[in-house]
Amino acid sequence: MASTFLDLLKTEFSPHFFTTEANDLQVYGKDWTKVYEPKPLAIVFPQSTAEVSAFLKLCSAHSISVVPSGGRTGLSGGAVAAQGEVVLSLEKMRKIGEVDTLSQTLWCEAGAITESIHEHCEPHGLTWPVDFASKGSSQVGGNIATNAGGVKVIRYGLTRNWVLGLTVVLMSGEVLCLNGSLEKNNTGIDLRQLFIGTEGILGVITEATLKLSPVQKESDVFFFALENLTAVFDLFEATRKSGFLVNAYECLSSDCLSVVLQNRNLSSPFAGEHAQYVLLEVERPETDSAKAKLESWLETLFERGLVQDAVLAQSPKEAQNLWAMREGISESLANKGLLHKHDIALPINRLHDFIQNWTRDLDQNYPGLKPYIFGHIGDGNLHVNLMKPERMPVLEFRTLCSKADENLFAWIQKYEGSVSAEHGIGLLKKHLLRYSRTEKEIALMKSMKQLFDPKGLLNPGKIL
Ligand SMILES: Cc1cc2nc3c(=O)[nH]c(=O)nc-3n(C[C@H](O)[C@H](O)[C@H](O)COP(=O)(O)OP(=O)(O)OC[C@H]3O[C@@H](n4cnc5c(N)ncnc54)[C@H](O)[C@@H]3O)c2cc1C
Repeated sequence: MASTFLDLLKTEFSPHFFTTEANDLQVYGKDWTKVYEPKPLAIVFPQSTAEVSAFLKLCSAHSISVVPSGGRTGLSGGAVAAQGEVVLSLEKMRKIGEVDTLSQTLWCEAGAITESIHEHCEPHGLTWPVDFASKGSSQVGGNIATNAGGVKVIRYGLTRNWVLGLTVVLMSGEVLCLNGSLEKNNTGIDLRQLFIGTEGILGVITEATLKLSPVQKESDVFFFALENLTAVFDLFEATRKSGFLVNAYECLSSDCLSVVLQNRNLSSPFAGEHAQYVLLEVERPETDSAKAKLESWLETLFERGLVQDAVLAQSPKEAQNLWAMREGISESLANKGLLHKHDIALPINRLHDFIQNWTRDLDQNYPGLKPYIFGHIGDGNLHVNLMKPERMPVLEFRTLCSKADENLFAWIQKYEGSVSAEHGIGLLKKHLLRYSRTEKEIALMKSMKQLFDPKGLLNPGKIL
């Protein structure tokens, strides 16, 4: 059956349309999670929406499963092909149109690399404000399919906000052109939104019209040392009330900072050690005395006892050094030991109680599991990491983490949070969906999947 289908591909498409080379199967069959054994049947490289359509139609007729694949930087196994599926790579669909400076929009194909979009728009003073560490490899289609976030969500919101139109191909081969480049279009159900953040289970995104934003103006970066967790939230409220335009409000515990300093051989900007740290980036106020304004705000924070110590970067280089302490956490933790990671979200006004109660519970009931917590406090997103104690065998650590997870998810559910803030569900978090979605919601999602892909051939087994 499989070889007949590959023969068919040879007759229907150009010679370089697909590959079954062992190395290609390994590379294209997985994403960044690297925990699943890739086993795709083949990798196809369509060059146009029409070709995607013809290919999916053929797959549908022959009941062949397909996994849409972008830059494969996903962190939940969404682009993994481990069951003999055909991987549909968008990497030969990278066309980027002219920047429309009147409407501040840009058309592109889904395989365009996120960073190329930024470079393409920059000469016009514009950008697509979807920005994170994997931008050099991730694709626009992947960003949209995962509704990606990043450190600047507090300022710009998620990817969803920056997508005007989509061209999507359904598993049947049918092509939908959704919303064109309209900013306003109140004509019933906005079908475009169904394909944003649904990890390629409903259709393959082949083209998009992106909404652009003016390039961010100059910014200023503060790094604060705080007495405790309560101060993190008091300072956040003070920041919200300051009138400054906030680009990022990131928090890291003292344990996280120690690991980064050690791993990157950096020195702390402060003389002593403090319980919590916050990195705040604000857009520089448009006034001749911008620095004086920022410094006088800083003084009020000390006067009110909100912060124990603080630095305000005096140059772009200093700002970069402060960001390095936040951006280096993931890598530094990974270099230190074996991690058990979660990317969770809570309502901002319940984050404080959640962190306090869950960490107390962890400490009492799972001694030895030390939490390393950091994240985008400004949008309620925490990265929670448990590190394997040096002497604990891996199996024991895994078993303990599984037990501790049940407890973590129960707390998340209690505080009406989400088990996946920005990394999606894919394969990795499928078993956790029930903690964040009701049975009714999951049943409705299944009905939608059935409607768009009755044979269940597109990205099978993901999310649901
Ligand atoms: C170092 C690093 C840092 C990261 N930082 C962040 C961060 O700050 N915030 C964040 O949100 N994520 C982050 N990520 C995760 C990841 O980069 C994003 O989820 C990104 O949007 C995935 O894009 P991709 O092109 O690599 O998609 P892939 O990994 O290839 O695919 C992701 C999902 O989308 C589907 N898909 C891909 N292309 C299409 C398409 N054209 N049509 C339909 N479905 C498609 C796939 O089937 C899969 O389910 C990070 C990852 C790494 C490795």
